[in-house]
Amino acid sequence: THFGFRDVPRSEKQKLVGEVFSSVAGNYDLMNDLMSMGIHRVWKRYFVATSQVRHGDRVLDLAGGTGDIALLLKDRVGDSGSIVLGDINGSMLKVGRDRMTDRGRVAGFEYVQMNAEKLPFPDSSFDLVTIAFGLRNVTDKDAALREMHRVLKVGGQARVLEFSEVKPEWFRPIYDFHSFKVLPRLGQLFARDADSYRYLAESIRKHPAQDELKAMMAEAGFARCSYRNLSGGIVAIHTGYKV
Ligand code: SAM
Repeated sequence: THFGFRDVPRSEKQKLVGEVFSSVAGNYDLMNDLMSMGIHRVWKRYFVATSQVRHGDRVLDLAGGTGDIALLLKDRVGDSGSIVLGDINGSMLKVGRDRMTDRGRVAGFEYVQMNAEKLPFPDSSFDLVTIAFGLRNVTDKDAALREMHRVLKVGGQARVLEFSEVKPEWFRPIYDFHSFKVLPRLGQLFARDADSYRYLAESIRKHPAQDELKAMMAEAGFARCSYRNLSGGIVAIHTGYKV
């Protein structure tokens, strides 16, 4: 593994995001379960199950954090496939690597500290590139999408799982209450950290909605861009292909 292999230049936003994730790393998995009432596990399973990943594939999971997606992907690529788990944050990567090692999952995983905006890989390196709950934290999303496209092999797919715009009108007030009142309280109660969770709720609202992200992917060079809403658009899965 080349975990921690280089330092990345950081803008102010990246610094803030870095602090947020260093601060939540240890509680990250617990908080995901609490905040989403466990539903994030279903979204992640669906995200991986509907990908076109095959035995022997080489996959890059960007903003991979504590490794939920990487673990699910590894079961699909088998012993002959490999997963690179990339994240800008050393603390998140460390929690992820420890967790995998504790479960006896070592072979076929690499951990690389990297900024999604500038990937340390040659062109056409991967069959699939995924980013789950990561793109909204990236400062230059267009650059990240272009990089995802560059490192994909021709025929490869990019998949983005991200919070999106809630569609049913009646659900919006409930969702807002959960995000801005319940989340920071949960953050305070379980992680002694309301601010990080306030940041998360705000970052969700600022993230481009379904059609805008789809257009950004096309602009970055992807073909056949499409999306699918899950749970009324709380999250959406965007896909695009390199042709
Ligand atoms: N994919 C994991 C999951 O679904 O549980 C982790 C998602 S977590 C909400 C977001 C991750 O994005 C954090 O681990 C954070 O360090 C990482 N991140 C933020 N900005 C990044 C960037 N510019 N490049 C790579 N990773 C980044």
